[in-house]
Amino acid sequence: MNYRHLYHAGNFADVLKHIVLLGLIEALLRKETPFLFLDTHAGAGCYDLLSESAQKSKEFENGINKILNKENPPELVQRYLNYLPAQTPPLATYPGSPFFVRPLLRAQDRIIATELNPRECRALASAVGRDRQLMVREMDGYQGLKAFLPPKERRGLVLIDPPYENPDEFSQLIKALTIALDRWETGIYALWYPIKERRLIDQFHKGLAEAIKREMLVIELCIYPEDVSGHLNGCGMLIINPPWKFDQEMNSVLPWLWSTLAVNNQGSYRHYPLKTSL
Ligand code: SAM
Repeated sequence: MNYRHLYHAGNFADVLKHIVLLGLIEALLRKETPFLFLDTHAGAGCYDLLSESAQKSKEFENGINKILNKENPPELVQRYLNYLPAQTPPLATYPGSPFFVRPLLRAQDRIIATELNPRECRALASAVGRDRQLMVREMDGYQGLKAFLPPKERRGLVLIDPPYENPDEFSQLIKALTIALDRWETGIYALWYPIKERRLIDQFHKGLAEAIKREMLVIELCIYPEDVSGHLNGCGMLIINPPWKFDQEMNSVLPWLWSTLAVNNQGSYRHYPLKTSL
């Protein structure tokens, strides 16, 4: 487990992921009844963008910094920006997914954050401190799906955001999702994935469509052409059981993100329902 999110915090992939995450949490907040946010690969919680590691990669420069510099963002993007600790560059810190969602919780809602890397988990637990609504567990996120689903709230969102260090990650994900949906078929699931080679993503989508008979939405943003080898050309979010009209939120968000983040107008964006034999 060599992956450390500090090198990537605030990059274009985090921006897309956290904007989508915010939109999904907002949909859950429309009802008074409590919800659970299960963050299976939670990371360290809060990232110091002035640290040596973040300054080495400077990935946030082609992510959050570009967004902060651009005028007239779509409403959902503006609301995302409002949740950042400061809104003028240079940002000193960037919140990870549990910290992004924590300020949105009402008294009746809760977060369970699982993280396998002991160092990252210690950092997360110490950043969280004592918090009745945010439970941190050092454990495998895929085991967490079995341990914590279905939640007593019967409403909620599962974010699955692995580092893809394991070459089998895509097939492991499909298996884990199948098990999770057997336990809790009405939950919302949001899965982040890297786009390095189109062929692999097409295979992944085909596998999902065969294994999962639920409504699914694909959201993708590429800032380079899709097949530049050895490169993170783009990323996607796969949403299972998307909230009503959630895809429409993306109509204004994706073109704006692409025109702000694409390198020399390369790449593309799209969102569409993944066809299954429902
Ligand atoms: N979700 C975080 C966010 O949006 O801010 C970023 C998470 S980062 C992409 C992936 C994290 O998963 C890393 O911190 C890594 O240590 C952790 N990880 C790797 N394998 C895991 C596993 N099997 N279960 C739980 N966490 C794992």
